[in-house]
Amino acid sequence: MTLVGFVGLGNMGGPMAANLVKAGHKVRGYDTSSGSLEQAAGTGVEACTSLAEAIEGADTIFTMLPAGKAVRTVYQGTGGVFAAAAAGALLIDCSTIDVATARIVADGAERAGLDLLDAPVSGGVGGAEAGTLTFMVGGPADAFDRARPLLSTMGRTIVHAGPAGAGQAAKICNNMVLGVSMIAVCEAFALADRLGLDRQKLFDIASQSSGQCWSLTNYCPVPGPVPDSPANRDYAPGFTAEMMLKDLRLAQDASNASGAATPMGAEAAALYGLYCNGGNQQQDFSAIFKMLAANHKDKAR
Ligand code: NAD
Repeated sequence: MTLVGFVGLGNMGGPMAANLVKAGHKVRGYDTSSGSLEQAAGTGVEACTSLAEAIEGADTIFTMLPAGKAVRTVYQGTGGVFAAAAAGALLIDCSTIDVATARIVADGAERAGLDLLDAPVSGGVGGAEAGTLTFMVGGPADAFDRARPLLSTMGRTIVHAGPAGAGQAAKICNNMVLGVSMIAVCEAFALADRLGLDRQKLFDIASQSSGQCWSLTNYCPVPGPVPDSPANRDYAPGFTAEMMLKDLRLAQDASNASGAATPMGAEAAALYGLYCNGGNQQQDFSAIFKMLAANHKDKAR
């Protein structure tokens, strides 16, 4: 049994902490939201009213926070993880944040004599609940080996991507592909509509041809061809447009900082920005089809 401190018990962190409890670990949790804390308590997490209480004496400390700013506060702030973690504690940040912050926080951990991994996930809330997340992990190899048994209780695929920041780099590269490919698939269905090509026929052909991709075959953005895709439930998420925009902007920040040319990623970020500004942040990200297909006389079908 490991004594775990878990900070950030929201949509993802809550079920992840619950899976650690189910696996027999003692989990002390902290969240600034009393609602998240109460919900976690219902799954067997020991609810703590301060960060200090949650991390005191913990063997491993997980964080699952909204953005880089919260991660810096929790790790580097007064009374934060670097100041209060027990000697030898393993620190694992599962939040999706910018690569630069991930590396700064990793440097801070090294100065504090602690091992830290960036370990963002994919698989969404469903994967967090089912314990089938994919972990993309950056940091020292020996820390990765220490982390693996705990990560296995929350995920199915656990990959050591490289040194500090490599997990975040993998996450934003993957999600840039996803954002761009989703838009491409939406554009193809919008064009098919204009040309009078049946949507199911396009799906049957493209899913067996060179246009095949996850956005088409697993998450088809029009109702019908993939029965459990969000398009069949009026685009209830799933993965929100707001989250996709966040990840695409993180990819653009990293492109600008590193000098990479990612014009399609930039266009995808611009389109998701437009879509979210239209009040659609909480729609599933595949609902951008409605914006791309707008003005077509058959758009409601
Ligand atoms: P969420 O907003 O539901 O949860 C974040 C939690 O952190 C909230 O409960 C909030 O109160 C808490 N928090 C914020 N600042 C805090 C602080 N200083 N101290 C303690 N608690 C604090 O978000 P989520 O959906 O759980 O996502 C968490 C992270 O996982 C994000 O970085 C997101 O990009 C990433 N992610 C989410 C999904 C998804 O489908 N939801 C999928 C993959 C990755």
